[in-house]
Amino acid sequence: AKERGRANWVHYADGMERPASAHVRLGGDLRRALDNGEFRLFYQPIVALAGGRIVGVEALVRWEDPERGLVSPAEFIPAAERTGLIVPLGRWVLRETCRQAAAWLAEFGPDVLEKAAPNVSVRQLHDPDFVADVAAALADHGLPPARLVLELTESAVLRGHQVSEVLHELHAMGVRLALDDFGTGESSLSLLRAFPAAIVKLDKSFVDGIELDDPGTPAADARQAVARAVVQLADALGLDTVAEGIENQEQADRLLRLGYTVGQGYHLGRPMPAEKLTEIFAARQRV
Ligand code: C2E
Ligand code: CA
Ligand code: CA
Ligand code: CA
Repeated sequence: AKERGRANWVHYADGMERPASAHVRLGGDLRRALDNGEFRLFYQPIVALAGGRIVGVEALVRWEDPERGLVSPAEFIPAAERTGLIVPLGRWVLRETCRQAAAWLAEFGPDVLEKAAPNVSVRQLHDPDFVADVAAALADHGLPPARLVLELTESAVLRGHQVSEVLHELHAMGVRLALDDFGTGESSLSLLRAFPAAIVKLDKSFVDGIELDDPGTPAADARQAVARAVVQLADALGLDTVAEGIENQEQADRLLRLGYTVGQGYHLGRPMPAEKLTEIFAARQRV
């Protein structure tokens, strides 16, 4: 599928490409969709920049609307957040990710897949049952806690004491936490000290154009400076990094030279259905 304006088109692998119609307004639609089992997860590989080994997968939710086809999360996550449906939806995402990751681990072993990462909304962190839900999702599927990475955004983490306590409980369970879209929030540096993070995900906005270094493109210099600062900071604090939104080899090379070892992006692998990744894992295991 070709890249299109993200606002008007949902575009996915395997040529599935459809215009996205009216934005989702009603929580009722989403509630029904959840009850009808219309959500599904795609998985995007997280890859070693040198060598191309898949070290993890990020779980990304899609809505398979019987009328509209695959709907992008950009269209329904905001409505789900507003209506609170993100809590049961996020719980489903968490459980489904654990189920799939445990199945892959059982079939292929930890050499083929180290960890799986669902996204977690701030509303979920405020749900009093969240920690227990995570523990149950792991236990029910027999997934070791260290195989689970919860992706949280800075804005989610910044909000208050209660959240901080939840994060420390998760950390104590052995679950890993990733700071998503890093660099786009407000107080990244102080946050890193207080947050029991294991992984920092450099936002795509710092990767876009990072490979350009013709004189007269100061924006590329600025991105390189941010990318370098983030990886140095992460190293100093003992955190792993993932560079997001890598769309070409030049970006991968540049990031590798700046000190990144792991990346994610269309160039390294698009979000895809679980069955597709199963085929990839099976092929890799044979070699
Ligand atoms: P995110 O967590 O930052 O996820 C990365 C997004 O970037 C994904 O979009 C992915 O498909 C896209 N992406 C990956 N590589 C590239 C690339 O090289 N180029 C470009 N242009 N895009 C790339 P997606 O799947 O549409 O998800 C959008 C956002 O929706 C996610 O951003 C996340 O914030 C949210 N989201 C997705 N699934 C969930 C979920 O289960 N729960 C919650 N709370 N949010 C979710
Ligand atoms: Ca994410
Ligand atoms: Ca991200
Ligand atoms: Ca994002």
